[in-house]
Amino acid sequence: MIPSNCTFCGLCCTLTVRLSRKDIQQIEKGSGRKREEFAVADADGKPLLKRENGWCTFFKREGGIGLCAIYENRPGNCREFPGKRLCDLAENPIYKHLSDNSENKRVKMLLKNAPISETPDTAIEEAKRKAAEAFKQTS
Ligand code: SF4
Ligand code: SF4
Repeated sequence: MIPSNCTFCGLCCTLTVRLSRKDIQQIEKGSGRKREEFAVADADGKPLLKRENGWCTFFKREGGIGLCAIYENRPGNCREFPGKRLCDLAENPIYKHLSDNSENKRVKMLLKNAPISETPDTAIEEAKRKAAEAFKQTS
């Protein structure tokens, strides 16, 4: 579910995403990419989505907005994120609410390198409008 305050900042696409067998089959079928191209194993050998320079291998940015290249076939964890009506990370373009724990420090470093500052206000407003519409349709 897209949270109603989503700004499409894409920060959630820097997080660790566990993959189920069904996720892997769906992504292979939908994207034409093989498992070894988009999945890596964690310390226990369980599959995770591959990240490149900290961002999910399927993340792309168009017009300053973060998008998913496999949106229709995205993993279950991505579909469920954030699992509530509002995203706590929605202010991330200025990340003023992030505390300084080690995970957030990593995220802040990533954001520094992401072209979020190029996001035009109008694109953000349009994205918010679309997110609100999507939220109304799914709630
Ligand atoms: S699969 Fe899509 S929604 Fe999930 S982390 Fe990657 S880019 Fe983001
Ligand atoms: S506002 Fe939240 S759900 Fe929307 S893209 Fe950013 S981190 Fe992801």
